[in-house]
Amino acid sequence: MQDTFEARGLREKLVESLREKGITDEEVLRAMRTVPRHLFMDPAFLHHAYADKAFPIAAGQTISQPYTVAIMTSLLKVKKRDKILEIGTGSGYQAAILAEMGARVYTIERCRELYLKAQQTIAELGYHNIHFFFGDGWEGKKEYGPYDGIIITAAAPEIPDKLLQQLKTGGRLVVPLGGGDYQIMTVVERTGPDSYDYSSHGTFVFVPMLRGTVNG
Ligand code: SAH
Repeated sequence: MQDTFEARGLREKLVESLREKGITDEEVLRAMRTVPRHLFMDPAFLHHAYADKAFPIAAGQTISQPYTVAIMTSLLKVKKRDKILEIGTGSGYQAAILAEMGARVYTIERCRELYLKAQQTIAELGYHNIHFFFGDGWEGKKEYGPYDGIIITAAAPEIPDKLLQQLKTGGRLVVPLGGGDYQIMTVVERTGPDSYDYSSHGTFVFVPMLRGTVNG
């Protein structure tokens, strides 16, 4: 698998469409222009990879829509060397975007098949600043925290308390919040040891954040 001239052209168009939809963070746009999204999906679907839509991956899960990745990454306000915890590795695409922006990424996936596949994809692309964990994201990864940012890429019915505790003061947690048919993109900023600010950023649809792990 490799990147191609055609894929780069399609990616350029995708990035222009994200700009038209209101994405302004140049670092986010640069990362999305750089990371070959088609390599995170079945290679037969090159054109689908560069349409602005979610797409099925293994284990009944989806790779998020590019616009959603762009919004969430913008809301996270990532700086180089930031330590970021991601819940829901899925294909590994969001993790690659964060790594491309210079973050140190810690990502947790509850489904073993996806956990293994994402590592393989990322190894082929050569990103070294992503650490993969198989486990239940509700627990977070306290031993590597606290984090400058936490991004939950599955629908959380409530904000996981353990994740709030693993956020640095001044850090931001981005989460699609809601257990129903749609979620409200929510940013939680930790303003002090026991104080948090909340803001809402539109409606999205995500697969659910589940409990426990799945082998296979
Ligand atoms: N960020 C992914 C998209 C993820 S889809 C990408 O870029 O491709 C949501 C993912 O969250 C799925 O892979 C699902 O298995 C995972 N997930 C759901 N609940 C979880 C939990 N409690 N802990 C870790 N991963 C979880």
